Order: sequence, then C-alpha cells, then structure tokens
Amino acid sequence: MYYNDNTILYLDGKFIKAKDATADLFSQTLHYGYGAFEGIRAYQTVHGVKIFKAQEHFERLVKSCSLLGIPFNHSAEELTQIAYLVLEKNNLKDAYIRPLVFCAPNMTLSAPKGVSFMIAAWDWGKYFDEHSLRLCISTIQRPNPKSIKMEAKACGHYVNSIMATNEAKQRGFDEALMLDMNGFVAEGPGANFFFEKDGMLFTPPLENILPGITRQTVLEICRELELPVTEKYFRPEELFEADGAFFCGTAAEITAIESIEGQLFNKPWKDSMGAIIQQAYQCIVLDKSYSYVIV
Ligand code: PMP
Repeated sequence: MYYNDNTILYLDGKFIKAKDATADLFSQTLHYGYGAFEGIRAYQTVHGVKIFKAQEHFERLVKSCSLLGIPFNHSAEELTQIAYLVLEKNNLKDAYIRPLVFCAPNMTLSAPKGVSFMIAAWDWGKYFDEHSLRLCISTIQRPNPKSIKMEAKACGHYVNSIMATNEAKQRGFDEALMLDMNGFVAEGPGANFFFEKDGMLFTPPLENILPGITRQTVLEICRELELPVTEKYFRPEELFEADGAFFCGTAAEITAIESIEGQLFNKPWKDSMGAIIQQAYQCIVLDKSYSYVIV
C-alpha cells in the first residue's frame, strides 16, 4: 500500500528502492519511540506540484529533534529539496510525504550517538471518508506537557493517539476528541479542533496541543476573511450547544464533524463557518485565489 517494487525513498544520503531499504532492529526508536517525524502533503496545483508549507513542516521536524535532544543537523531548505526529489523520482503529484528521524542502535536510555533519516511518499487520498465524523469524548487524556514536549512531533507520543482512536472505534464512533489533563477539550488524536457558536469560532490555545500547521492556516484564513476566532479553554459540555465543528490537520485537511457523543450540531455542515474554511483551505493548497468563497 505504501510502496511497490519501484518505489524510491531517501535514506541517509541515498535514493534507494523502498523494498531494499533496511533499518536496525536495535534502533532506540523501534524500542522506545524516541524519534521524530512529519506528515506533509503535496498537491498538483495550478502552478505545478507544490509541497504545502514545506518550510514550516521541516522547521518543526528540526525543532522536534532539538526539543527531544536527538542530534539532527539539517536545514529546512535542504530537506525540502530532498522531498521534492522523492516526489519527482516516484512521479507523485498529490501525495503524502513522511520524513522520519530514527535513532541508531542503542538499548540504553541515554542520548543516541547517531541517527538515520528517511523520506518516503505515497498517494494518500482523504484521511477520513467523505462523510462527516461522529466523535466520542475519549477517556484517554492528551499527555501532560510537563511530561513530554508538546510541540514535538515525537514518534512515541502516538501511542496515546492510537489508543484513543482504537477506543473510539471500539465504541462504534469514527474518531476521538481528547481532553487535556485539566478536563478541557484539547484535540483529536491526529488533528486540531475548532467549534462554531453564534457566528464565532473557538479553538483551544497552544499549551496542551500540538501546534498544528493547518490550525495556523485556519487562523490565517479567518484573519483574511474576517471570521471571528478566539483561542480559549472550554469543557466538552460547551460543545453540546455548538452550531458546528471541524478537525484540521495535514492528513485530515478540514474534516466536518457531525456529532459528539451522538449529539448533532445545530447547523448543517454546508451552512457552517467550517464549510467556508474548508473551501478556502482547498483553494490555498491548490494555489488558487479564494476571495470568492465568501460573498
Ligand atoms: N494534533 C495532532 C496530535 C497531530 O498528530 C496532528 C497531525 N500532525 C495535528 C494536531 C495537526 O497538525 P498539522 O496541521 O501540522 O498536520
């Protein structure tokens, strides 16, 4: 699914066939989750294939490594060039790009001496199916920022995310909405969260969530289209009176939410502020003007 016999990936300075790529079973990342990664999308835009916010994503990767203490010395510019080459060598246009920094063999808990770096890419359509999501409130909290580096996209953090998604699916929902350690709404297992009430959008502030690049783009769209948006802490009960809500993330893009714990929102998605943002986001990633989406 992610590669075939001809797929090329980048690994430690070389472009090689994915089927021939190897990794050491004693990597600290495999055993302890001590590594960092990114999730990036490229789009076939009106001006050719473009990686959306490549600089921001690779800067976050470099920052993740530095926050975690993983030695990784590359510039975002250099990494962006490699990512474009991976796309070109695989003739990919609309693609998902996965850079991963993983550590050398080391079974101790001390900092690794060396790291490996790979970039793979594959065709990935919508992360969620077309329909809007039925969420539950997860019993699994997001990690306390005093125990991990919240701004780092660390491999091991995703144990928490996978557990939340599994729990949601086992309960018959599409996805989880997770709370922070104080019981405030935080984010999804792999996306940030916004809700609409009385013509305003609300989203949790940065402290207890991953600072999403799509979240930032949504805030930019709101500024541009003069849609009022407020960052604040709120409890799940507030959502039961909301008019609409959506997830945003590189993989998820802008995904409509239909209900939370079975409670539907007041507005149909097509009439919500989320729908306007969804249209604008599609225009931005495809390098089109989006002033027409609001009239
Ligand atoms: N929160 C979490 C936990 C995530 O995994 C992601 C996906 N990277 C996001 C939010 C959204 O981040 P971005 O918009 O940068 O993809």
